[in-house]
Amino acid sequence: MPEEKKQVVLGELVTVGDFAKLIDRPIGEVMGTLIKNGVMATVNETIDRDTAEIIASEYEISVVAEKSQKEKRAERSSLQGAELRPPIVAVMGHVDHGKTSLLDAIRQTDTAQDEAGGITQHISAYQVTHNSRRITFLDTPGHEAFAALRQYGAQLTDVAIIVVAADDGIKPQTIEAINFAKKAGVRMVVAINKIDKPAADANKVKTELSEKGLTPEEWGGDTVIAEVSAIQKTGLSELLDLVLLVADIEELKGDAEGDAEGIVIESYMKPGRGSVVRVLVEHGVMKKGDVVVAGSSYGKIRTLDDYRGEAIDEAGASTPATVSGFKELPSFGDVFQVVASEKEARKIASSSRRNQAIRSSDSIKTITDASGIDRLLAQQETNELPIVIKADVQGSLESVIQSLTSIESDEVAVNIVSSGVGSINETDITRASTSKAVIFGFNVDVPVNIKRLAVREQVIIRIHTIIYELIDETKEMLSKMLPPEIIETDIGRLKVKGIFRTTKSEIICGGEVTKGKITPKTLAKIVRNKQELLEAEVAAVQRGEIETKEVFEGDLCGIRLNIPKKFQILEGDVIEVFTREEKTRKLE
Ligand code: GDP
Repeated sequence: MPEEKKQVVLGELVTVGDFAKLIDRPIGEVMGTLIKNGVMATVNETIDRDTAEIIASEYEISVVAEKSQKEKRAERSSLQGAELRPPIVAVMGHVDHGKTSLLDAIRQTDTAQDEAGGITQHISAYQVTHNSRRITFLDTPGHEAFAALRQYGAQLTDVAIIVVAADDGIKPQTIEAINFAKKAGVRMVVAINKIDKPAADANKVKTELSEKGLTPEEWGGDTVIAEVSAIQKTGLSELLDLVLLVADIEELKGDAEGDAEGIVIESYMKPGRGSVVRVLVEHGVMKKGDVVVAGSSYGKIRTLDDYRGEAIDEAGASTPATVSGFKELPSFGDVFQVVASEKEARKIASSSRRNQAIRSSDSIKTITDASGIDRLLAQQETNELPIVIKADVQGSLESVIQSLTSIESDEVAVNIVSSGVGSINETDITRASTSKAVIFGFNVDVPVNIKRLAVREQVIIRIHTIIYELIDETKEMLSKMLPPEIIETDIGRLKVKGIFRTTKSEIICGGEVTKGKITPKTLAKIVRNKQELLEAEVAAVQRGEIETKEVFEGDLCGIRLNIPKKFQILEGDVIEVFTREEKTRKLE
């Protein structure tokens, strides 16, 4: 029987020391193999998984990627014990269109809320019961909710309510909200709000929605719309009906047993109580006494309350809860999990802290060098970015191509040199190498021998599993190809009154500051009869005999200019002093 190839499971990053231990090789030897592959790294430095894989392959050891949060979650929602869970809803829209009012109004539809006194203090999440079913609302600024959702792998929110004021129509942030939801694959319900106002025009809003590709159902499209008034509390029941309707398109399930897992949605310190952390449980059941870890903080749950602040015994899937007991404050968007012991929690928290430090210090040693992108971009001779695309299936390949080719810019564009379905192979590397292209893989693997080849050929491979992230990265690359924006700022003006010395590289003259100020280490234009004759550098400024940092309007001063070529300055010439900055541009 052939001996099974040894396998090690790795996260995204590992220190050289830990890696050597894992593959059971002396550290010195592993460091040597790294050097052979062009990576100088000490025992405590970190390498990425791709690099580790290439090194491991030299020892006939294969590397298996640790499951991502997303994969783990998908697994849990298809577990045997998985049960239907309430949909998680976020409210988004343009400022002043009524998000807060609507969230308050919905909260008050639930009679149970009255017990809490009906006071609308801020809470980051709550639940209501509608048609005997629970719905969880996130009362978190839409953008933050989505930012967290991105980190967490696009699953925090199930439904987005897009609020549009009937008297104002679609505005920039409405479009942003729609795009966010579309990108994240979140279902939408549009709430046309303020329908009570005399100036309300729901039809106009519907027309605008249609123009954005969101055709109302009543006009034959598939966008569901409720007309509501948050102030008069009308249409809310219809709105909640629609939320449940779109939520039901997918069976939303959560593991109803096992250790809880979810996301931190708010955290703060409360005098006399310590840390207060609001979480949204996504899977499993959270109980008092559980040991939890979130990012780099951990603790034992001392108190467990529901969103109203009432003590509860446990919190299940899609349930917001408030806990105390964390030793330090976790951050918004941190993933939390219940673990077996404080010892384990400490270990996970400190490795998370270490990973954060590594990430921010940017000292990850890697063979498959991502900074190579700058080198590749610098090599481009046209304003097109050549790309090779590989995707798992025809459908996703088409959407990737479609999204990439619809990136709008007059100055730069992508050039898809080749595309296909399947893993990245030798042909792709060769093609990318000859056409100086970057390879994008969507939901595909890169066999280790291909990774090695890519390193040798200096070909960059980027693997993505979420289309908009692939698009965002492409836009980032294209942005780097845009010529920078040049910003010139006027500082001041000087009228020349006397010339002391001119050489072929320098002018020293005196004059009066007629506007603003003059400072050294700036640029200057020499202007005569409104015509710019020469550009120079301001090397020094003098007040009397003494060099100074600045002189102001009305001052008499001496100025020394560095000039690029011989030039005869005259009395009466004007020196306009300015600064010039290059600003990198960003493709939207
Ligand atoms: P947000 O910025 O989207 O959270 O908007 P707010 O909820 O703060 O509402 C902005 C303003 O619109 C407030 O003055 C609300 O009283 C008002 N408003 C919100 N909903 C309605 C509504 O249904 N009808 C009317 N007439 N005014 C509303």
